[in-house]
Amino acid sequence: AKDQGKNQVAGCTPTMKQGIEDKTQLTSQLYRAIERQELVLYYQPQININTGQMVGVEALVRWQHPEKGLIPPGVFIPLAEQTGLINAIGRWVLETASRQNKAWQNLGLPLVTMAVNLSVEQFRNPRLVEMVYQVLQETGLSSACLELEITESIAIKETTYPIALLQQLKHLGVTISIDDFGTEYSSLSRIKELPVDRLKIAMEFVHGIDKGGKDQAIARSIIHLAKSLGLSVIAEGVETLQQLQFLKEQQCDDVQGFHFYKPMPAPQIEALLRKEMAH
Ligand code: C2E
Ligand code: CA
Ligand code: CA
Repeated sequence: AKDQGKNQVAGCTPTMKQGIEDKTQLTSQLYRAIERQELVLYYQPQININTGQMVGVEALVRWQHPEKGLIPPGVFIPLAEQTGLINAIGRWVLETASRQNKAWQNLGLPLVTMAVNLSVEQFRNPRLVEMVYQVLQETGLSSACLELEITESIAIKETTYPIALLQQLKHLGVTISIDDFGTEYSSLSRIKELPVDRLKIAMEFVHGIDKGGKDQAIARSIIHLAKSLGLSVIAEGVETLQQLQFLKEQQCDDVQGFHFYKPMPAPQIEALLRKEMAH
């Protein structure tokens, strides 16, 4: 029993220990994932609610693990954030997504905005603005075709710093949107002073639309708030016709969700863009 004890991490049950080993192993593999070209981007269309046209795509990263298959970002992004790897991964994502958008443009396909997620950790990196600038230079993508999605927590928890940083990013010409809007209870005065262009209604409220009541009220308020502040508004996680109709009635600008398309690899987006061009 004594020997057995030695091999155990203090205070851990065997399943917890297994979990920790998996995490450590996964983290060391993640270090090499970029150079081994195991990260891939999927893209999910963003649709203008009135015209039905694809106006943008959101880049969503996946890890094509050699043994475990496709690992979702919810599993490895937190690991990357804990280890600082998020800066390298974030740069890879931004660069790959920007290059992809430029490639579609070079093919003469209809213009779409490329939305890229930024993690809080990237936001704390003093070289963020420089990095975004470099990527735009390197890929030749116009900043008008790039959108950065930040979370509400970045916007509210950090105090004066984000405003200056967001302003610098906006000066590059990129669009800034607040992701998962409504989940972090930011004050109205805070939103008013943030230099952002767009609010993205959190999925939980969009899903709640079908049940009526409070979530409908929240979704409606976010849309009206955006309008009165002169911001555009997009709803994510739209899955049903009922949700879509409600959002249309409330004059939400854009929608994104499984009701239209799931995130998909680049060639499928290219095919969609070709179809739009033919119409
Ligand atoms: P998010 O930015 O809020 O992205 C939306 C998530 O909802 C995506 O999951 C997307 O696939 C999923 N989704 C889209 N439409 C629907 C729908 O109609 N119904 C439902 N149930 N889900 C829908 P995914 O791709 O697993 O990404 C999860 C999260 O991982 C993202 O949430 C984002 O926070 C993070 N993430 C993804 N890619 C990146 C990245 O490149 N960098 C950073 N920092 N985070 C990323
Ligand atoms: Ca997002
Ligand atoms: Ca979200």
